[in-house]
Amino acid sequence: MPANILNLPDFKVQRVEDADHDYHVYAEVSNPPGTCMACGSDRLIGHGRNEQVIRDLPTHGKRLAIYVDTRRWRCQSCGKTFMETLPAVNTKREMTDRLVGWIGQQSLKRTFASIADDTGLDEKTIRNISRDYINKLEAECRFEAPTWMGIDEIPLIKPRCVISNIRNNTIINMLPNRDQKTVVNYLYNLQGKSEVQYVAMDMWTPYRDAVQMVLPDARIVIDKFHVVRMANDALEKVRKGLREQLTPTQRRGLVHDRIVLRKRERDLNDREKRLLNGWTKNYPELGVAYRLKEGFYAIYEGADSPQAAIAAYGAWNKAVAPEVRDAFGDLIRAFSDWQPFILNYFEHPVTNTYTESLNSLIRVMNRLGRGYSFEALRAKFLFTEGTHRLSRPKFERRRETELAVVDGVEGYGLPDGAVGYDRPHGHARKVVLMPRKGAPKAARSHEPSRPQKNYGAGINTLIELLESGRL
Ligand SMILES: [Zn+2]
Repeated sequence: MPANILNLPDFKVQRVEDADHDYHVYAEVSNPPGTCMACGSDRLIGHGRNEQVIRDLPTHGKRLAIYVDTRRWRCQSCGKTFMETLPAVNTKREMTDRLVGWIGQQSLKRTFASIADDTGLDEKTIRNISRDYINKLEAECRFEAPTWMGIDEIPLIKPRCVISNIRNNTIINMLPNRDQKTVVNYLYNLQGKSEVQYVAMDMWTPYRDAVQMVLPDARIVIDKFHVVRMANDALEKVRKGLREQLTPTQRRGLVHDRIVLRKRERDLNDREKRLLNGWTKNYPELGVAYRLKEGFYAIYEGADSPQAAIAAYGAWNKAVAPEVRDAFGDLIRAFSDWQPFILNYFEHPVTNTYTESLNSLIRVMNRLGRGYSFEALRAKFLFTEGTHRLSRPKFERRRETELAVVDGVEGYGLPDGAVGYDRPHGHARKVVLMPRKGAPKAARSHEPSRPQKNYGAGINTLIELLESGRL
């Protein structure tokens, strides 16, 4: 057994009991207090002891507790008595600081139950430490308010609301549900909310009402993706309805029908084209619905202004045949209820990159195991180091007069931070930044630097981490 199993220099280990599942470490503080906490006098005498049990990091796969005979001291000058404070021990809990820190970090990666098992603490304690840790991360992290905000639904145990910065392709918050009150509260407290000019969202009335209430000047845009998928849903309704009426033999003729019908016509291969032609000859209703789906996509592909879009939609709507009108009913109703916001898209389109990234993220997230709390998942997504998109530091112009070219000089012995490379043309030479004569060093180094801006957690980085099991 090493002399100090704890590897905590502030403690002197006296004895270690090595049990099946636990280490019991008996220790005392290496350096007792030299002076009185009240008056500063050094005339201290011992005044009894009190055993404290401090939990520490699991070690060699075993739980570990430190038994400390905490000493009470009495000051002979002022007569006060006080307990020595234990170094490296958390002020709030009978645990080492490093255990509290470790539990916090682990709580974003593992279930509370498994951490409780490793440490011998109960799940409630783990949950409380996790909450404190997340609050600390939250306080340290402020994301910029986006010009283009996305409000979307994301399934994490149940539907949640995810807030994004569309232009930067990042996530800036996740809300526990998608109620109007929750979204209003979030937007109301958002710092820099006047920056928000566009809000892209799904056709979900509570989002719309919340945005109109708190950000009346922001333009609401319904992303193409949410509208065109309703045309696919309509076709799917027709397909299912048809299948129900068919005999098993007839049904067998419709191989891969779902996959083929979902595809755009231009993406069909020859075999799929033949299948589709065969079906639409036998089941004209399916052909009608397929044409309408394709026609609806064409509105988004052809129209370059809200006016053109509404004209194309009018023509499309007229062409919806009575026998499939029911199936397309949801789409037609949505288009009418959300028309101004759907048309905004044709003036202010949402970037494809964002829509595709977010959909990939949702797909990957579905594979996440259960047993995590929403709070831990949220913190993991928002606060994992290395995922944040930061502004680059402010550009600093270099003055010609500050440059002196020195050949063949290595960086040794030069003033701090003086070496840089410059001049892309010609042969590479080492450029040394010389302080101008008479200018105090501080004056030419840095202006009071503004803190770096943080635009949120990069969606593509999150996907990468999730896919490689590193999140
Ligand atoms: Zn004293």
